[in-house]
Amino acid sequence: MIGIFGGTFDPVHYGHLRSALEVKEIFGLTEIRLLPSAQPPHREQPIATALMRVQMLELAIKNQPGFIIDTRELDRAGHSYMVDTLKSFRQEFPEQSLLLFIGTDAFKNLTTWHRWQQLFDYAHIVVMTRPGFQLQELDGYFAAKKANDITELVQIPAGGLFFQPITQLEISATAIRKMIAEKRNPGFLLPDAVIEYIRQHALYEK
Ligand code: ATP
Repeated sequence: MIGIFGGTFDPVHYGHLRSALEVKEIFGLTEIRLLPSAQPPHREQPIATALMRVQMLELAIKNQPGFIIDTRELDRAGHSYMVDTLKSFRQEFPEQSLLLFIGTDAFKNLTTWHRWQQLFDYAHIVVMTRPGFQLQELDGYFAAKKANDITELVQIPAGGLFFQPITQLEISATAIRKMIAEKRNPGFLLPDAVIEYIRQHALYEK
């Protein structure tokens, strides 16, 4: 099974890294692919360039077996829709189970994503919930896709919906950028090597 963890990573922080490691262990993934987005259709443009966000990811995952930076959205021109990204993953890995990890907030907006129903043609969707999270009643479309056990996701390569509680550290890239702009110390929220990179490139200072 291959996991896909998308984000802007502007900058990558321990909230991302800790959840990626947890899902890698829980699902026994051979690979967890961190997928920096080029032009997120749903939000403001990143402050750091694509190259910088990739370089920060490289520093962050150095020596982490099974962690891979996947630049396919950066390599493609124009908007990056997740459905196109998953289609390209499926072409590369025709047989494997693919797991797309998204946060609870993203799941709430899922039906606004471009051709969202086709996401399930290419991958399973795993919603990373906070421990103790109570699932609201799902509408019929999602209820029919919901898997109750991880083994169900292994048996078919795509098409399932799964809710997995994950430790959520109270860390956000927005808060880190604000802290740096206010000349406060972001130590212990993200790897030291990334902090050093941010300092050297004078990123997020205003
Ligand atoms: P920003 O503050 O700029 O919006 P962010 O910190 O939320 O950024 P993103 O790159 O937008 O980071 O997040 C990508 C993915 O990482 C999303 O699926 C999101 O749910 C997840 N994520 C972000 N922060 C955390 C966290 N602290 N713990 C667990 N998952 C997180």
